[in-house]
Amino acid sequence: MKILVANLGSTSFKYRLFDMTTETLLARGGIERIGSPQSPCFLECGGQREQAVVAVCDHAAAVRLCLEQLADPKRRCLRHPSELSAIGFKAVHAQGISGVQRVDDRVLAAMEAYADVAPAHNPPYVRAMRLLSKELPQIPLVAAFETDFHQTISAAQRYYAVPREWADRHGVCKHGFHGASHRYIAGRAAQLLDKPEAKIISCHLGGSSSLCAIKDGRSQACSLGMSPQSGLPHNNRVGEFDPFALPVLMRATGKSLEQLLDDLANRSGLLGLSGGRNDLRDIEAAAAAGDADAQLAIEVFVAAVRHYLGAYLLLLNGADAIVFTGGIGENSARMRQAICADLDWFGIHLDRLKNDNAKGEMPIHSSQSRVQLWIMPTNEELIVARQAKALLEK
Ligand code: ADP
Repeated sequence: MKILVANLGSTSFKYRLFDMTTETLLARGGIERIGSPQSPCFLECGGQREQAVVAVCDHAAAVRLCLEQLADPKRRCLRHPSELSAIGFKAVHAQGISGVQRVDDRVLAAMEAYADVAPAHNPPYVRAMRLLSKELPQIPLVAAFETDFHQTISAAQRYYAVPREWADRHGVCKHGFHGASHRYIAGRAAQLLDKPEAKIISCHLGGSSSLCAIKDGRSQACSLGMSPQSGLPHNNRVGEFDPFALPVLMRATGKSLEQLLDDLANRSGLLGLSGGRNDLRDIEAAAAAGDADAQLAIEVFVAAVRHYLGAYLLLLNGADAIVFTGGIGENSARMRQAICADLDWFGIHLDRLKNDNAKGEMPIHSSQSRVQLWIMPTNEELIVARQAKALLEK
């Protein structure tokens, strides 16, 4: 059973092809800077890595290119696209729908209804899903929603303090996202700790960032709320924000509500604070060179992570492990060190040497740490492939 998992960013398309009979990764690839005349793409298959720069105008063209490359006879990843049992999507949000769903008109309409709640994610997903269901109608498309893992969150952690019918009638509550990543970390950490009931705080820090409190393999709380623009600051999305700033800004700038929401979704977060830098690597380099805006962006991000870390240590009554994952969580020793600084009262001690030299999945706590600290590369695509397989076998 071959399943292709598609992971769409606002200007990127990443994919993995699995043989789900054995959970073997057959191929992986990605296309970046979609929409620009030069889109770098890569494909790894059968131990070979190929790279190229092509012009990919939109996500539909990216999906087409991916299927052409996989089915190219010289690579033999797929005999033909029709060999796929399903294409799984790490779908983000839909009005009134969560879980794992066959993509049909009802699911697409529910995703379209939340295009302005998840503006960086839902429109490209819907476009790609529509294209594929037209071009490959025989292949089932499966949407594994990022909110699914968080359906176990209690009412106390889920509700905003707003009129009750906003939640009950309109779904205005904390849905939580990054479900595939936090689910993977929950399972992998329980396995590594040999403790299924473990209390885990999963820190997915990347282009989008969130913390999740996990107990008995189940999500207890997530820093992401109603939309992917909430919680921690993201690379260009705002994170926590007071809606009463909006009328002040509308009066002061003359901008419409839509323009300000666009600023919050595209020109805020680390980018907004750091003076236009989107990537933490550039922000860290600028901060090291003395740039005050870059330094502030790092400090705000670290403070926000520590805010949720503290909240979740209380919620879980301690933790067996804190896990770092995502592009920042896996790669930035500086961020991990800043987040774990001065937490000895909680029994949290980072080993500086291990942290500085970490690569791949490994513990980074010192011998006196009561709480284990880990780096774990996440595998969201495997989770989506498993969910798609389970749906097909139902
Ligand atoms: P996404 O949420 O879009 O999937 P990733 O999890 O791939 O994003 O994380 C991407 C982010 O990780 C980049 O914006 C970059 O800031 C950060 N990153 C990647 N590598 C490093 C590194 N070596 N040091 C610091 N930050 C890094």
